[in-house]
Amino acid sequence: KSKTKRISKKSSIDFSKVEVDVLPTIILVGRPNVGKSALFNRFIQRREALVYNTPDDHVTRDIREGIAKLSDLRFRVLDSAGLEMAASSGSILGRTAEMTGNVIARSQFAIFLIDVRDGLQPMDLEVGKWLRKHAPGVKIILAMNKCESLDDHTGYLIAAAGEAHKLGYGDPIAISAETGLGMAGLYEVLRPLLEEYMSRILKDKVKEDNNPSEVEESKLPLQLAIVGRPNVGKSTLLNALLQEDRVLVGPEAGLTRDSVRVRFQFQGRTIYLVDTAGWLQKSNQDKGPSSLSIMQSRKSLMRAHVIALVLDAQEISKARSSLNHAEVVIARRAVEEGRGLVFIVNKMDLLRGSKMYEKVIKAVQEEVQTVLPQVTGIPVVFTSALEGKGRIAVMRQVVDTYEKWCLRLSTARLNRWLMKVMSRHSWKDQAALPKIKYFTQVKARPPTFVAFLTGKRRLLDTDIRFITKSLKEDFDIGGIPIRVMQRVVP
Ligand code: GDP
Ligand code: GDP
Repeated sequence: KSKTKRISKKSSIDFSKVEVDVLPTIILVGRPNVGKSALFNRFIQRREALVYNTPDDHVTRDIREGIAKLSDLRFRVLDSAGLEMAASSGSILGRTAEMTGNVIARSQFAIFLIDVRDGLQPMDLEVGKWLRKHAPGVKIILAMNKCESLDDHTGYLIAAAGEAHKLGYGDPIAISAETGLGMAGLYEVLRPLLEEYMSRILKDKVKEDNNPSEVEESKLPLQLAIVGRPNVGKSTLLNALLQEDRVLVGPEAGLTRDSVRVRFQFQGRTIYLVDTAGWLQKSNQDKGPSSLSIMQSRKSLMRAHVIALVLDAQEISKARSSLNHAEVVIARRAVEEGRGLVFIVNKMDLLRGSKMYEKVIKAVQEEVQTVLPQVTGIPVVFTSALEGKGRIAVMRQVVDTYEKWCLRLSTARLNRWLMKVMSRHSWKDQAALPKIKYFTQVKARPPTFVAFLTGKRRLLDTDIRFITKSLKEDFDIGGIPIRVMQRVVP
């Protein structure tokens, strides 16, 4: 009896230590009312689920996403309940199928649910057919739900399982989303699949960690935060950015409320928008300065790799300075925390044809330099989110900043470079020249360099500034906060 069956074997992978980003994704599929939501709720227990909708012409569909736990397994679970399968939605068939397909394509596994009490329905067959066509790379696990009262009717269960075989997805696992019956059976099936998947991913990750190259690291998903005061146009900009890939709009459940994220694709690259929750919920917005400080707290900035700080062109045209106090604070914090920063000056359409247009462009560019003297060349993009203008430029700058932020330079290359560059520097006192034994990049994201010194002499601040400036120029890594430090070796 599966009811009493305990989970005996443990997974060889410690899923609790796996970063949420790389967990496998399982989507729950099936016709309406088979119990997808019930199973979803069981998986995520009392953890938070986030609902997001995918507006599409007239209908709004919800997708829920959460982090699921099944004994010691952990995975990302998607409930497609709101995205009724193609078969069930006559007139919007094409588009729905496409959207569902997009969501399914992000999953590695699907649990295909049927209802044991209804028996196999034509719609189940259609869902099965649909999956075969649209989810070729997704491993499908068939589950027969609502089996709790049939636990003692073995004959009936066997007959139902035989019928379910017709779907072509093998033997179904008998479960009850409501009572938890059969979770051990589900675990047995999922464990090897998730372990195999996870060990493959982790192996790739180890490879990356051991052989960090610029290219590989910059392929990791980019986490972008769009920040700014209320009403500068963040939501409008977000919608413009997401134009290409609307289906993926929506906060994604992390482990805490703080980690609400929106995932989207830009030119084949996965981008996570972090900390949008604060301003996506309009109700939270007009609460004045406190909401500003919450959503742009230091902690929240730390989650992002690149921060896009949105300014309002019209406000700038009226004010004496381009950046107000709060904006300066955010920008400085971003730099202090070693994040990439991109300025966006939005609502440029409102200045079109006025003499302020050029003035604002010039003023912002200059002021950005004075406010953040330690980071030269921070990109500034001028947009009209309302007209959808500048979104490609924004994303290019964001991606470019991210790539620079991920840059890795080999020690050999750096030392050759250092020899040359040191001769360029006008040392204050030739006799007091510090001896740099070697110069190396100790980490990326952001690039951090260490000069290892021997002897008594140390690099002065001016020397460090010179090295930093030269690195930026020679390796084209302007606009991001790079760090140069010194250590003494015996
Ligand atoms: P969805 O449309 O596939 O998401 O289905 P729901 O999760 O909303 O479930 C549809 C109905 O089936 C609800 O009334 C649930 O309470 C019920 N249901 C779900 N799972 C079970 C189960 O394991 N046993 C029984 N008896 N009912 C269930
Ligand atoms: P948020 O509070 O930063 O998310 O700002 P919203 O995106 O909600 O925008 C606030 C207001 O500014 C709305 O009325 C938008 O229509 C308007 N808006 C946003 N972007 C632009 C733009 O590029 N040009 C103009 N003229 N208005 C804009």
